[in-house]
Order: sequence, then structure tokens, then C-alpha cells
Amino acid sequence: MPYQPLILVIEDDERIRRFIVAGLSSQSYRVIEADRAESGLSLAGSHAPDVILLDLGLPDRDGVDLIRALRAWTQIPIIVVSARGHERSKVVALDAGADDYLTKPFGVAELLARVRVALRHVATKGSPLPESGEFRVGELVVNLVERTVLVGGEPVHLTRTEYRIMTILVRHAGKVVTHQHLLTEVWGPGRSAETQYVRVFMATLRRKLEPDPARPRYLLTEVGVGYRLLDE
Ligand code: CA
Repeated sequence: MPYQPLILVIEDDERIRRFIVAGLSSQSYRVIEADRAESGLSLAGSHAPDVILLDLGLPDRDGVDLIRALRAWTQIPIIVVSARGHERSKVVALDAGADDYLTKPFGVAELLARVRVALRHVATKGSPLPESGEFRVGELVVNLVERTVLVGGEPVHLTRTEYRIMTILVRHAGKVVTHQHLLTEVWGPGRSAETQYVRVFMATLRRKLEPDPARPRYLLTEVGVGYRLLDE
């Protein structure tokens, strides 16, 4: 029997928790549950789960505070579950060390896709790439070893900054990357207000890489949060 990953679900809303647990169990994941931050923290310590799904709105402790407490001793992927319209809290959670998020209400397919991405990043020690350094989705091929980008087999020339942005998205493929994360990695710290830089470069990248830049297939916008490179 193959190893069945263990998922910890920390969510106080029983209806949502049951929905999540049912979805995960349908894929043979093992699941443990907590309805409070403190019991969740102690289960994380005692069971060493492979992924944590964390509701940001818990009755006994702020979710972002819980992320910081977890990140003091573990790099277990944390997927935050939060309400629609709470973009700011999602960004704070991601910058505090969460890996990804789901916005309520979400479907089972989306839940399982996020969990698969998180597990893949764990299996490959934080990078979804094989040793060849090649990333593929649809017609797009990025090779971080050869430093090449192809669309439909044709080489595409990217500027240094465009290529730098692509390498960050590829290393986090399937996961959301915040505006702040891109700004800090590409332009250095202290550029917090200048998210329009990122928008301009993303528009150019879409013109170069997307079949229809107005309806991106690969470089997806996460409204109010950042960008996600599709990976499956
Ligand atoms: Ca809640």
C-alpha cells in the first residue's frame, strides 16, 4: 500500500470542516481535525502532518499568529482557508509563511488541486522541477538550467527582468506568489508601494507567452493578492 499523506484540517465551522474532510478522504488522504487553533497546534506537533489546511477565522487565536507559531519550528505546507473579500488577510497570511490559499466557497476539485501542489513541492524539496530544470505546461516550456523559454517549440526572448519574474513563478508553479514577494525578489526590499511595476512586466510577459493575452491560460491573476503560474 503506498504512503497516504496525512492532512491536518483546522476549521471551526463544522459544515465546512466535514466538506473538506469528505473531499480529502475520497482521495484516500488520511485526515485529522481540530476546531480550535490551540488543539490544531498540538496535533501539528504530535502527528507531523504533510499539509495543514487552516481557517484564518478561528475563535481562540488569530490565524496569522498561528502561522507564525507553526513557522517557528516547521516548514509543513500551510494552505489558508479564508472568506471572499478578505484579500488583505490572505496577503498577510502568505507573507507570514502560508504557502497558498483557498477562498470560501470552493469546490472539491480546487481543494484537491491545492493539496496536490503542496504535496508535490514537499516531495521535490520546495521546487516542482525535475533535475533537468524543465517546466512544462501546455505549449509553454521554461528551462531554468538552459535559461530558455519556448512557446509551441519556438524560442521566446525575455529581458533579464522578465526572465527573473518567470524563474520565481516557475519555482512556485501552481502556488500563488504575492506582489510583495515578486517586488522583493526582483527589485529588492523597500518597494512595497510599487505593485504597478509588477503589472507592467506581467502584461509584457503575457503578450510574449500567452496565446490570448486578454484571457491568460498560464499566468493567472489572483485578484488583490498576486499571480499564479498554472502547473497542470
Ligand atoms: Ca471560522
